[in-house]
Amino acid sequence: MSRRTVVSYEPDSTTSTFSTRSNGLPTTRNSLAGKRIGNHSNDVVAYFHDEEVGNYHYGERHPMKPHRLTLTNHLVISYDLHKKMEIFQPRRATEEEIMSFHAADYIDFLKRVTPENMNNFSKLFTRYNVGDDCPVFDGMFDFCKIYSGATIDAARKLTNGSADISINWSGGLHHAKRVEASGFCYVNDIVLGIFELLTYGILCFKHSLVL
Ligand SMILES: [Zn+2]
Repeated sequence: MSRRTVVSYEPDSTTSTFSTRSNGLPTTRNSLAGKRIGNHSNDVVAYFHDEEVGNYHYGERHPMKPHRLTLTNHLVISYDLHKKMEIFQPRRATEEEIMSFHAADYIDFLKRVTPENMNNFSKLFTRYNVGDDCPVFDGMFDFCKIYSGATIDAARKLTNGSADISINWSGGLHHAKRVEASGFCYVNDIVLGIFELLTYGILCFKHSLVL
């Protein structure tokens, strides 16, 4: 069964009571809601970073620079922020997880195309919107699996109640469509993260997912 088929937003009795906070945002009262966000020094922050993720390269003139993730991580360490967070090495998303949103033929294309063999796939470039904004680059699908796995794991930290805030700088590639790349994005980790939240019937207004 794919993940998508098990996703439904049917809050059970522990998650269905909504109230309104003073800022107007609804909040859930559930088993995770023991801690209120207010004093951030008490929040449990889960930080997901994969050393590999900054090594991927979209191409010399491309404005998307994954290397900035490495620089950001250096800043985090330089400022000792890692001592205030729980640090996690994210796992890679599985193809099954990715295909809970994306079409199998599109993922098969992402998996197989490389800079070396891309001429054999040129007829599919228009169909999957691969080209200038979304170039084929070395390790492209591995890059997708890394940032997507981190987002799913980050969301899971919220759904299982072990963190108040989850951070994955490498995520947020929200332009990717079900059957095509768009705006530097190939796999839409935001959708996958939302699926994870919805699997547990929780809309995390109280908790923060930073992507
Ligand atoms: Zn994008």
